[in-house]
Amino acid sequence: MFTENKKIKFLFVFFFVFILLGITYPQMRYYKGNTHCHTLNSDGWATPDSVAKYYKFLGFDFLIITDHNFLTNGEGLNIPGFLLINGEEITMTGTHFNGYRLSRLVNPSGYSPQRAIDSVNAQNAICILNHPRWVDSWYTYDMVMALKNISHFEIYNLNSEVMGLWDSLLTGGNRKFLTMAADDSHSASACGTRWIMVKTGALQRDSILNSIKNGNFYSTSGILIDSINYNSTSIYIKFGTNCTSLKFIGKDGTVYKTVNSNIGSYTFNGSEKYIRIYASGNGSLRAWTQPVYINTLGIGSNQLTVKYSLCQNIPNPFNSKTKISFYIQKDGNVTLKIFNILGKEISEPLNKFLKSGKHSFIYDVTELPSGIYYYKLISLNGSEIKKMIIIK
Ligand SMILES: [Zn+2]
Ligand SMILES: [Zn+2]
Repeated sequence: MFTENKKIKFLFVFFFVFILLGITYPQMRYYKGNTHCHTLNSDGWATPDSVAKYYKFLGFDFLIITDHNFLTNGEGLNIPGFLLINGEEITMTGTHFNGYRLSRLVNPSGYSPQRAIDSVNAQNAICILNHPRWVDSWYTYDMVMALKNISHFEIYNLNSEVMGLWDSLLTGGNRKFLTMAADDSHSASACGTRWIMVKTGALQRDSILNSIKNGNFYSTSGILIDSINYNSTSIYIKFGTNCTSLKFIGKDGTVYKTVNSNIGSYTFNGSEKYIRIYASGNGSLRAWTQPVYINTLGIGSNQLTVKYSLCQNIPNPFNSKTKISFYIQKDGNVTLKIFNILGKEISEPLNKFLKSGKHSFIYDVTELPSGIYYYKLISLNGSEIKKMIIIK
């Protein structure tokens, strides 16, 4: 039997673990997904089940199968740990759209492009303009602007990269434009060559699609974002080390800054209208972020929410020392606390006044046993928790 005191203690620990798990598990993270591919239900290379399993094998978290004018029931396939979302490539002469989260086929026969978009939207699905710079579906600025209630298009399909069109639309079009890369695979060798990284709370259909809808994703053919932060005056980004050059691009496609590195920062001058980041590496390695909109005061009012205040520690798992980095937007007192798996606070390696900007420090755990730990950053920005693993 518990004494009253022990019972309270037990409940307290239980409650605290519950809170920690609650904060930790719906934690936002990136999921890797391809949003355009074909199976034997149209002109693809294998059955839906084989295609899906192959993407899982390649390290993908989710897949949207988009056969031509065929609604492949991906959601009916059961592949543990892998998310499938129903889709279709609505294929008309001169225009291809993808529809995601479709519950019934859109048969575009006799449809105008606008009618196809409207039918997708009527199903609460998401409509994408595919490969607008592919020779058989070439879209000009005016043609895109004539389409209503659509905000997404493909920036990089298997063999068609859209360069200036996005910048023209972001500059002249007074509405939201987001882009995605997709491999549009019809063969095994094309699978996994371009994809998106979606930041969201769960590998779950509506969670992934809402993040796609809201622009919480970036596109890549192999370069990944390590961290990205922005405030009202500047943006800081770090890509993986296979990025050799990054460009900060704004109004009319103007390159405001080029950095020959995987790390860069840019201070807004207020006249850019928007800033998007284009990363490149060897061969066809690329990454594209969504734009951050700049208003006339130079304040970033943005759609880009792939934002970290507290970075994942490096290395992780680790043995004795690890580096924890974070970014604070305002000068103020900052506390970092370490908790064990039971939610018990075991140390407070940092508690001091810091200037705004990026900070990092080395945390030494020589004294601690192996296990899962949490580190929590508390600043004027709020608080954030991340998990770290010590292996001895
Ligand atoms: Zn197509
Ligand atoms: Zn296709």
